[in-house]
Amino acid sequence: MPGEQLHPWHDGYEGAVSLTFDDGMRSQLEGALPILAENGLSATFYVNPRGPDWRGLLEPWKAVAEDGHEVGNHTVSHPCSCAFKETRADCLETMTLDDMEWEIGEGKRRISEVIPEQVDFTFCYPCYHAHVGEGPDRRSYVPVVARHHVAGRGKGDYANHPLTADLHHLYSFPVERRATSEMIGLVEEAAGQNRWAVLTFHGISEGHLSVTESDFTGLCNYLGEHRDRIWTAPVVAVARSIHAWRSARTTRTNHGP
Ligand SMILES: [Zn+2]
Repeated sequence: MPGEQLHPWHDGYEGAVSLTFDDGMRSQLEGALPILAENGLSATFYVNPRGPDWRGLLEPWKAVAEDGHEVGNHTVSHPCSCAFKETRADCLETMTLDDMEWEIGEGKRRISEVIPEQVDFTFCYPCYHAHVGEGPDRRSYVPVVARHHVAGRGKGDYANHPLTADLHHLYSFPVERRATSEMIGLVEEAAGQNRWAVLTFHGISEGHLSVTESDFTGLCNYLGEHRDRIWTAPVVAVARSIHAWRSARTTRTNHGP
């Protein structure tokens, strides 16, 4: 179709990148944020507003959202598969869709209460797991996420194609222990295919699944230098852009040439 935009990336971008950070870790506030700021990049931080002091836990993230980053929902209590545990308490195989409805709805409500200025934000699957129950009773909770959020981030082996990706179960690359060059490789492969690479970080030179500060700095410098070709933006911004582009395509299809 003449004039049809083949992908949703505007301003001459070849592809998109989202840097996502899970679990609300201290090194993200103290290590990642200054490096992002130096390079003029915005990212997504998925937090768990858990326990009696959930308001206090969310407090430092208010300023993060004010600086243009996304503060997203990682559930209240971070439930993962029982396979990670030695008991069957408080884990996904013994939970129901109603339990996840509460985890997701309440996580969203708490973040919205503390950061009301943030009108829209996305979800991230704890431990990348997207099911409840087991065997014949195993169910996906992706539909619960779809009721509450514009997008959800999981894990996968590919960068997301703007036309075919399930926005409520986006693929992301876990990049713990990766070198700068490997992360740039993932970004460039996605850009070459006009796709959207989502990278998942935990600690920055700290704690579990960490990437070194120097490797993270190398990646951010690269994304800053290539900002005219590669659109680095929070998950919610890229998801909204894809959603609008898909809606426009559908409208054109329905009304003919
Ligand atoms: Zn997590």
